Amino acid sequence: SMTPMGVPNTFLERNSVQLEELIGDGLFGIVYRGSYTDRRTHRRMPVAVKVCKDDGETGDLELANKFLLEEAYTMQQFRHPHVIRLMGICTGPHPGKADDSSSDDSRHSPKHPNNNNNNVMHPLAASVWIVMELAPLGELRTYLQRERAIINLEVQLLFAKQIASATAYLHSNGFVHRDIAARNCLVTSPRCLKLSDFGMSKMLAEEEVYTSSSGKLPIKWMAPESLNYRRFTAQSDVYSLGVCIWEILMHGIKPWQGIRNHEVIKKIEAGETLARPPDCPLALYDMLRAMWVIDENFRMTAAEAMHFLEHLLDELLSG
Ligand code: ADP
Repeated sequence: SMTPMGVPNTFLERNSVQLEELIGDGLFGIVYRGSYTDRRTHRRMPVAVKVCKDDGETGDLELANKFLLEEAYTMQQFRHPHVIRLMGICTGPHPGKADDSSSDDSRHSPKHPNNNNNNVMHPLAASVWIVMELAPLGELRTYLQRERAIINLEVQLLFAKQIASATAYLHSNGFVHRDIAARNCLVTSPRCLKLSDFGMSKMLAEEEVYTSSSGKLPIKWMAPESLNYRRFTAQSDVYSLGVCIWEILMHGIKPWQGIRNHEVIKKIEAGETLARPPDCPLALYDMLRAMWVIDENFRMTAAEAMHFLEHLLDELLSG
């Protein structure tokens, strides 16, 4: 079971993590491809490492670190084949700040030449590092565009089913993601998609509603009740999931291209939905529309969408 907010039980030593190449740029963090070496087994594995943006303008490293830690607290609770996994975090080397209770290997192993303990400060050591599973094929949208030739309806249904199952998993554990979109999906192999970016996700008690205050909101992915009342629930996640599946069917084209946010809001209020993608079977488009029902109480659930996609996939493969 999950706790609302625990302390990550996986502290990694900074010198067991090598940063290799910058691969992504986000709002608060930048992401490196790197590798993690297990001290005991000497096994090296590829990882993605999110560090705070060294941003002189907003400048608030303390706050950025807090956001990164919150994201790690959330991520560490998830174990699902289609959710990006947290391997651990690096903190410190600020004296007293690093947790020494759980990183016992730092006490028993010989000092590494670049060990934090002998005052060789890593240039990025002021930041918390979030070490996570690497998605070697990168962002979904870029992948869909680049590999268009090999992405047929079967792959699209498979990807859709995987993200629906990740969403259903979060919901069954009391979480809402709040930012489900193709830009937050990563590709680990040609037939495996994973949900990432838990910077906005929140744990909600059943029946509880998260009311967002303000900030940059993903208007074109948002359910009517999120647009109108800033209400974010499992049902509003389903609406966004529908938009995300639409993006997959459109080979990475964003929704409502060239239309301004306030025009989109008017369209949604008037009951308009995104158009049926070319070659999208009617049954699949009917499912999307069931995910975009205005009244959240009559909207399809993520688990229902997952089962329906499974059914469509079975039909496609047997027919
Ligand atoms: P933000 O939430 O601040 O936008 P993200 O978590 O989306 O930051 O990360 C920014 C970018 O870094 C992503 O769009 C992606 O390109 C890359 N990235 C993030 N996590 C991984 C990962 N686990 N594997 C591969 N690339 C990643």
